[in-house]
Amino acid sequence: MSDIIKLLPDSVANQIAAGEVVQRPASVVKELIENSIDAGASDIKLVAKDAGRTLVQVTDNGNGMSESDARMSFERHATSKIDSAKDLFALRTMGFRGEALASIASVARVEMKSRQKEVPLGTEIIIEGSKLISQQPCQAAQGTTIAVKNLFFNTPARRNFLKSDNVEKAHVFNEFLRVALAYPEISFSYYHNDKLITQANNENKGHRIVSLFGNHYKERLIPVEEKTQIVEIEGYVLKPEFAKKRRGDQFFFVNNRYIKSPYLNHAVENAFSELIPDDSHPSFFLFLNIDPSQIDVNVHPTKTEIKFQDEKTLYQILKVCVKRSLGKFNIAPTLDFEQDGAFSNIRFDKEKPVVPPTIDVDPDYNPFNTQKSSTSSGKNLAARTNPQQWEKLFPQPQHSGMSNRPEMQPEQGNQHESKQTIISAGWDEEEQISSTKKFMHLHGRYILSSIKSGLMILDQQRVHERILFEKHLKILKSRKSSSQTLLFPEQIKLTEHDTHLLEDIMGDVAALGFEINKFGKNSFMVNAVPTEIAENENLQSIIESILDNFKRNSADVKLEAPVNVARALAKSMSVKYGKVMSEAEMNALTDELFSCEMPYQTPSGKPTLTIIKQQEISGRLK
Ligand code: ADP
Ligand code: MG
Repeated sequence: MSDIIKLLPDSVANQIAAGEVVQRPASVVKELIENSIDAGASDIKLVAKDAGRTLVQVTDNGNGMSESDARMSFERHATSKIDSAKDLFALRTMGFRGEALASIASVARVEMKSRQKEVPLGTEIIIEGSKLISQQPCQAAQGTTIAVKNLFFNTPARRNFLKSDNVEKAHVFNEFLRVALAYPEISFSYYHNDKLITQANNENKGHRIVSLFGNHYKERLIPVEEKTQIVEIEGYVLKPEFAKKRRGDQFFFVNNRYIKSPYLNHAVENAFSELIPDDSHPSFFLFLNIDPSQIDVNVHPTKTEIKFQDEKTLYQILKVCVKRSLGKFNIAPTLDFEQDGAFSNIRFDKEKPVVPPTIDVDPDYNPFNTQKSSTSSGKNLAARTNPQQWEKLFPQPQHSGMSNRPEMQPEQGNQHESKQTIISAGWDEEEQISSTKKFMHLHGRYILSSIKSGLMILDQQRVHERILFEKHLKILKSRKSSSQTLLFPEQIKLTEHDTHLLEDIMGDVAALGFEINKFGKNSFMVNAVPTEIAENENLQSIIESILDNFKRNSADVKLEAPVNVARALAKSMSVKYGKVMSEAEMNALTDELFSCEMPYQTPSGKPTLTIIKQQEISGRLK
């Protein structure tokens, strides 16, 4: 029999390697950007078209390549990064197998232009499906541009395996994020279909996170830092109240390379365990610096898993250091674990029938009316609270301090009923007694309340903003608003720009209960308003401030329109500072806050409350 073993042609070998290295456009993004970083670039521009299917192009201002290096770079196992196997153990560069360019060029059309510093002319090379199409000298800026076109043009099976544009686009963006996060000292920009998506200039780690994730992250980050012999840890965790139901923004970088490690994730989650609900996950950006010889590099470069030599110690260090940061930044001490748990239990069971209050009071009674209602601030708080809810909340234990309000004293039976509700919602007797609601109003701005662990201070406007936001969002999502027709429709006039904006978001504004019709150029007629808005309020200024807030929010973060409208409305309708509050109002506001899904911060991420622990108070009084 004749011999049957033969060597595969290079182009086929490259295509096989490509199967490992290049799974989707995002893999190309990763390889090209990593090469640019290895080439010492300080400015990297990524351009993609059609989720990277037709084009992924990376331009850098790095070292560039000589004419022969440019050609060599497309050969398999061609790399400038290692000379011998021992280099593998001291590796700090991104690539080292010399496979990426060869693999990519076997499944796409690659156009490369590169010029080294002090060399007048650069080199342009075009390769398609591993075949050299052309190579010639060219004018070029210092650095390298590599354009990868029509990925998988010759491998239809791989092309068909790609997911929808949205999915591929998300992968591309994620790869971009991961490198951009790891190298804040490098400027990055990303364009998709000719639109600038993200731009981040040379900055530090914290700023980079904010540039990439939005301004609202500024207040969310808690720094983490630790230097030990084994590992140096640096980065940020997000405050516990920003924990997510999905494992979203969890970033680990080891020696500046993004990695996935369920084990280390667990360490961080463990540090958060008493601060967030069981089904939530913290977000973090953690950068570990470890001696490369302590890591197993013998893993595939495109894989994000990694093996550490002393995993258990690393786990402990990480956990302790995150815990310490949470404590240092006052999260652990302020949000007393026990108390925190009790708060999240205050949510009232909406399924349970609400026992009609058998209270001998005027059903229209509203505590807010005892204040100068709907005057200067123009806000009618009355209509915005849910009387049923807070009547239900009154049946507190006898020592609740409410007995001095005879009109609110509930009947025995009802008291019992509601107490049951509270107990079954997770409060024990002691908790009830200790969290007796007593409020004090400070500087027209803060609500002070004594709680078991110390003193809770709420910011009235922020609290109200959170409550209104959740309420409006619910209405918007269910499209079940209640609207009241105005006796006298009111005309409002807007600027050209605001007119367009209002027309754009009219659907959502209408869903809230507004009925607004165009009434000539830049002018509208308001025929109906949400029931929360009192008849005599200044609609012109309410609508203007909704639009203003909307503009501010959409510049801040890209939010879906309903969220944005709800945010804007909450902000503009929330009770302002300076408004004096009665005990009943403060009580109602507090209770409503704790039946919110996310009571601890405003929709834009500012804290709604803080807690001063009793120990802290007694410490100060020593
Ligand atoms: P590796 O990165 O593993 O060495 P690649 O196939 O990604 O393998 O790249 C091959 C070689 O091409 C690199 O080692 C480097 O010398 C050169 N190269 C690739 N991209 C660039 C770039 N943007 N600037 C300068 N040199 C580059
Ligand atoms: Mg590489």
